[in-house]
Amino acid sequence: MPKRTINDIPVLPLRGRVMFPGSTATVDVGRFISLQAVKKATDGDSCIFLVAQRNAETEKISGFSELYEAGTVCRIRQISRLPGTTIRLTVEGLYRAVIVREGTVNDCIVCDAAEIVTLQQGDDGLVEAYFRTAKDIMGDICQSETHISKEAAAALDRCADPDEFVNIAAANLKISVEEKQELLIKERLIDRLKLLDKILNTELEIMRLERKINALVRQNIDKNQKEYYLREQLRAIHTELGDDESEKEELGRKIEQKGLPDEVREKALKELSRMDKMQTSSPDYNVLRTYLDWILDLPWSETTEDNKDLDAAVKILNEDHYGLDKIKERVTEYLAVHQLTGGLNAPILCFVGPPGVGKTSIATSIARCLGRKFVRMSLGGVKDESEIRGHRKTYIGAMPGRIITGIKNAGTSNPVFLLDEIDKLSSDLRGDPASALLEVLDPAQNSTFRDRYLEVPYDLSKVLFITTANGLDTIPRPLLDRMEIIEINGYTQEEKREIAKRYLVSKRAEQNGIAAGSLVITDGALDEIINGYTLEAGVRNLERCIDSVCRKAAVRLASGKIKRMRVTANTVESLLGARRYDRDSYMQKDEVGAATGLAWTAVGGTTLTIEVSAMHGKGEVLLTGKLGDVMKESARAAISYIRSNSEEYGIDQSTFETTDIHVHVPEGATPKDGPSAGITMATAILSAFTGKPVKSSVAMTGEITLRGKVLPIGGLKEKALAAYRVGVTDVIIPADNKKDLEEIPKAVREKLNFIPVTEVDTVFKTAIIGI
Ligand code: ADP
Repeated sequence: MPKRTINDIPVLPLRGRVMFPGSTATVDVGRFISLQAVKKATDGDSCIFLVAQRNAETEKISGFSELYEAGTVCRIRQISRLPGTTIRLTVEGLYRAVIVREGTVNDCIVCDAAEIVTLQQGDDGLVEAYFRTAKDIMGDICQSETHISKEAAAALDRCADPDEFVNIAAANLKISVEEKQELLIKERLIDRLKLLDKILNTELEIMRLERKINALVRQNIDKNQKEYYLREQLRAIHTELGDDESEKEELGRKIEQKGLPDEVREKALKELSRMDKMQTSSPDYNVLRTYLDWILDLPWSETTEDNKDLDAAVKILNEDHYGLDKIKERVTEYLAVHQLTGGLNAPILCFVGPPGVGKTSIATSIARCLGRKFVRMSLGGVKDESEIRGHRKTYIGAMPGRIITGIKNAGTSNPVFLLDEIDKLSSDLRGDPASALLEVLDPAQNSTFRDRYLEVPYDLSKVLFITTANGLDTIPRPLLDRMEIIEINGYTQEEKREIAKRYLVSKRAEQNGIAAGSLVITDGALDEIINGYTLEAGVRNLERCIDSVCRKAAVRLASGKIKRMRVTANTVESLLGARRYDRDSYMQKDEVGAATGLAWTAVGGTTLTIEVSAMHGKGEVLLTGKLGDVMKESARAAISYIRSNSEEYGIDQSTFETTDIHVHVPEGATPKDGPSAGITMATAILSAFTGKPVKSSVAMTGEITLRGKVLPIGGLKEKALAAYRVGVTDVIIPADNKKDLEEIPKAVREKLNFIPVTEVDTVFKTAIIGI
């Protein structure tokens, strides 16, 4: 076909679109310059040259430089008027053309346009290949792109001419003006096809991506819808069952109603919303669920009202305990101060004493006096800081520490909290529990105690902490400084008997279901139990023995054979078996080479018989039994002293060269203060060397120096009680300990004859017969 040229054709600038031959389009025209062009066209043969603006935004066209160099010659098929001055044209694209001359006629831009004839020559096979690919891809695009009309899709499908195809495709694709313009201007068919292919492939890729994104979005929506649907169903089930709250709603409501401190409430709600996004089967869901249960179970604002009646408090203390007058007085004072200050900066009470003297029991009574809840936690063997402070909840099976657990068990935020055996706290590599405990007990810090599991502060300032210990030596100094020490000592035989009579027997009988009055344990029987079956400062084992008696009695009473049972000193053995301790665990008669010492152990005072035998040998010293290093030193000091004063005691120097000595401590727990066995050892050794007996009625305690001086010792009160228990009459004590005699119960002081000494020589003269 010869190349057409058209002269003075009016130019209609297009904004943001490109017209192609072979398709029909509507164009709205409003600008003056455009209306003039339409007018000129309709005045002539209705042909108009549609050329795209280089910039769609340009309102006023001042010249050809603002237009692309090529466009499409069209015929106006229809003109319709729109409101205002705007008109709507329906145009049909005829052929592609390029501007060859620019001009203006009566306010209208015109030009001479020369047709762009497609150059068909080239590799037909290649053209065909590109064409088919383009068709295929276009088919795909038409199927999923809604903006391509059905007619256009059908035309594309039908089209058998590659050049036409490029035009129709280009007219319908959502591609940039620049790309369309390029397709419009290319002369060679193969170039046009190649470019279309490139564009189509990009489009396809974009479409795929779009599809993928859409699918994802849909999936999300679907999932949300599904969850929503299931939740609704669940709610419906709950409603049907009469419990119309979901787990989350229930937790949310409880959190709001619990009266939590702001920080805790926010934290709980945050964790709840995290939990809400999880699947119920996920382990994290359960971790959070357990966490929220802890938060909800803990008493944050629940408290008990303190009982302010001090007289009632005194009554309760007396009701629960025999004796302990000083301690009761001290506790009453403490309660009074506590009441006046509201517990501010009150020291922590620490009851110190041997096991079974009623430390725990007094703490329980304090709770009863105040009307507070009581919790107890044993610190014995707590090595790990996290036992106090908890584990982070990210650990598997994490839990709050023992303090928070105790508070939860108490159910109120102001219980009496007993920290038992604070002296048994140990520390290892996993952190120091003592420092964690210090934080718990320090009023400056404990209002914001942080448990690692809870992650929010808990106010411990309203808790009344009480501690107990068997001894003070192992308590870390900073802890000790926070506490007010109240010592409780061991009981005498009479006191034990009274405690048993008034409290333990009835308590145990009741617990074993024995009616009041059905069981009588005589004083003689109690004494027999105390002496023959227990060896202790407190009454713990005594209580156990009484319990055992009660159980045996219960069996007999339940059999119906007897109605009442009376336990006497003679029948104790038939109930409890053979005596465990010989009353006379100290020397029964005056013996050579044996002396009774008094020791102070963790369980209170006790007697300690030291035996020495002298035999023919080479002057060696053998030490056996429960001898600590300190005791060995005492033994050596004693021997040295005796050797250097041998003449005075009538021992020949050569005896030392030809005699082996064997020192043995047969019974008793390891004493806390080794050196106090010094004078006892010296006495037994001298008795062995001289062959003169030691008086069995004498017991002693005191440290010895190389020069024979007697130095003071600790725990005199406990030791005196032990001496009293076993029935010795004379007790040799270091003169420097005389001041401690006041602390010893009157009953004991009246029965024992204390002999204060400064020199070991006096000890020998008092204890060994014939020196
Ligand atoms: P601790 O805590 O010192 O080891 P506990 O408080 O456990 O001793 O006392 C052991 C038992 O002895 C308890 O049943 C307690 O009630 C009883 N008990 C101890 N001292 C007395 C006392 N003075 N009066 C009455 N019962 C006592």
